[in-house]
Amino acid sequence: MTRTLEPTLQGAAATAPAPGPLPAHVRVAVVGSGFAGIGTAVRLLQEGVEDFVVLERASSLGGTWRDNTYPGCACDVPSHLYSFSFAPNPRWSRAFSPQPEIRAYLEDVAARFGVLPHLHCGTDLLAGTWDDDALLWRLTTSRGDLTADIVVSGCGGLVEPAYPDVPGVGSFAGPAFHSARWDHDVDLTGQRVAVVGTGASAIQFVPAIAPQVAHLTVFQRTPPWIVPRLDRAYTEPEKALWSRVPALLHASRAAKYWFRELQLLAFTDDGRLRSAAQREARRHLARQVPDPELRARLSPDYAMGCKRVLISNDYYPALVQDHVEVVDCGVREVTPRGVVDASGREHEIDVVIYGTGFRVMDIPVARCLTGREGRTLGQEWSDGGAQAHRGTTVAGFPNLFLLLGPNTALGHSSVVFMIEAQISYVLEALRALDRHGVRALEVRRPAQDAYNAALQAQLDDTVWNTGGCRSWYRDENGRNFTLWPTHTFTFQRQTRRFDAEAYELRTAARSTAP
Ligand SMILES: Cc1cc2nc3c(=O)[nH]c(=O)nc-3n(C[C@H](O)[C@H](O)[C@H](O)COP(=O)(O)OP(=O)(O)OC[C@H]3O[C@@H](n4cnc5c(N)ncnc54)[C@H](O)[C@@H]3O)c2cc1C
Repeated sequence: MTRTLEPTLQGAAATAPAPGPLPAHVRVAVVGSGFAGIGTAVRLLQEGVEDFVVLERASSLGGTWRDNTYPGCACDVPSHLYSFSFAPNPRWSRAFSPQPEIRAYLEDVAARFGVLPHLHCGTDLLAGTWDDDALLWRLTTSRGDLTADIVVSGCGGLVEPAYPDVPGVGSFAGPAFHSARWDHDVDLTGQRVAVVGTGASAIQFVPAIAPQVAHLTVFQRTPPWIVPRLDRAYTEPEKALWSRVPALLHASRAAKYWFRELQLLAFTDDGRLRSAAQREARRHLARQVPDPELRARLSPDYAMGCKRVLISNDYYPALVQDHVEVVDCGVREVTPRGVVDASGREHEIDVVIYGTGFRVMDIPVARCLTGREGRTLGQEWSDGGAQAHRGTTVAGFPNLFLLLGPNTALGHSSVVFMIEAQISYVLEALRALDRHGVRALEVRRPAQDAYNAALQAQLDDTVWNTGGCRSWYRDENGRNFTLWPTHTFTFQRQTRRFDAEAYELRTAARSTAP
C-alpha cells in the first residue's frame, strides 16, 4: 500500500475561511506570508501603498515558522539578528528562540503594522501569466482570479518537503511523516523510531525525542560539521533594559551581525580560519563522544562549510545513549515493516521520521509563473540553472520580483537581512515606475547574464563549491544557485539603488526580446 506522507498544511485549520473576497485588481500581489511576504507588506504600507494583497495558501501566516513544529525547532541565527530591523524585539526568551516564539513574532508584526486586512489565507496561487498587451499579471488562485500590476513572490525555498530517493517510501505500514509536517497525533513514547537524515532539523529533534522513545535508529548519509551552540536564556533584567534602551538592543544586533560577517571569512579565505574552526568542531565532538569508533563515523570528510554548519550541544550526547544507534551507510529501501540500510540489514521500526530537507530546486512558483515569452520560470531555468538579476528579477518576466530568489541564501547569517535588502530594491523599482511614468520594467538579459557571470566567478573559490561535498546549495550540474558569495552588506549596497539602466521600461507592449 502506498500512502501520501503529506497532510494538508496545518491540518483541518487549512479550510478556515479567508477574509472577504479577492479584489479584481491590485497594484501589488504578494505571494506567501513568511518573513518575506509579511516584511514586504509592512514596507508597502510604510510607503503608502495600500492597494495590495498577500496571498497565502495555508490557513495562517508564518511560512517556515508555521510549518515546522517539530520538537526542538528553533532558529540557528541569533534572534536579535534573525528578526526585522524595523521591528526589533527586546523580549526574545533566548539567544536562539524556539519556533513558537518566532511564529508569534511574525503574527505580532503583521497585526501591529496593519497587514491583516490585506492577508488572504487559504489562497493558493495556482497560475500566473504575464499579459504583455495589458502589461499586468493574470493570476489564478484557489479562491478565484485577479490581476496585478506587480507580483512579489515570497514563496520561500524551503517549503516543499523532500523524501529520500529510495524504493518503498510511502509503503511503510506504520506512521511516517516529514519533520516539516510533524504529526503531533503520533505518540512516540516507547516506540522504535527511525530518523532518516542528519541535517539542520534532525539535529534539533533527535535530542528532543530521544528520551521518549524505546529505540532510535538514526540513518546518516553524510555527517554534518557541528559546533557548540552558544545559547542561553535571557534574564528579565536584560529584557527590561533592552525594552527601555533600544540603542542597547540595536548594539546587540550589530555585534551579532559583525561577528557573523567575520565568520564568513572561514568560508571564503585560503583555509586558515577554516582549519581553526574545524579543530574547534573536532574538539567538541571528542568532548561529547568518547567512543572512537562512533566518533570516526560522526567525523566529516569534507571541508567545513561545504554543507550548512550546524550548532548543537545536545545532538552528540543524544547519539551516545545505549538505545540510540547511528547507521552511517545510508538507506537502501523502506519496507512496510521498517528501513533497510545500504548493507542490506532490515531495521524493524514503528515510526519513520524523515528529516531529509526540502525540494529546493523544485519550488512550485517556478512551475506556475509564465512570462512574456510563454515560458514558465522553471522552463526558463531548465538550461542554465536558476538565476536572476540581483537575486530578484528575471529577463522575460516583467514586473516580477523574487524574494530570496537565486543566490540570495546564506551560509553564515540571517536571511532576513537579505529579504529586507530585496524589499528595498522592490520599493525603489516601484518608485522608478512612477518616476518614469511607465507601467512595466524588465531586466535586460545581458545585464542579468553579466551579473551572474561575476557572481559565479566569486563563488568559484569558496568552500561551498570546492569543499568536496554534495549539498543542496548546488544543482545537479554542480552550479551553486542558492548562495550569496560574500558579505551581506555588499548585497545591501547593490540593492539600495534601483539600477534602471539595466532594465527596459515600457508603457506599451513589445514583441521582441530586450
Ligand atoms: C526549520 C528551519 C529553520 C530555519 N532557521 C533559519 C535560521 O535560523 N536563520 C535563517 O537565516 N534561516 C533559517 N531558515 C530558512 C528560512 O526558511 C528563512 O529564514 C525564512 O523563514 C524564509 O522566509 P520566506 O518568507 O522567504 O519563506 P517561507 O517562510 O517558507 O514562507 C513562504 C510562504 O509562501 C507560501 N506559499 C508558497 N507557495 C505558495 C503559493 N503558490 N500560493 C500561496 N502561498 C504560497 C507558503 O505556504 C509559506 O507560508 C530555516 C528554515 C527551516 C525550515
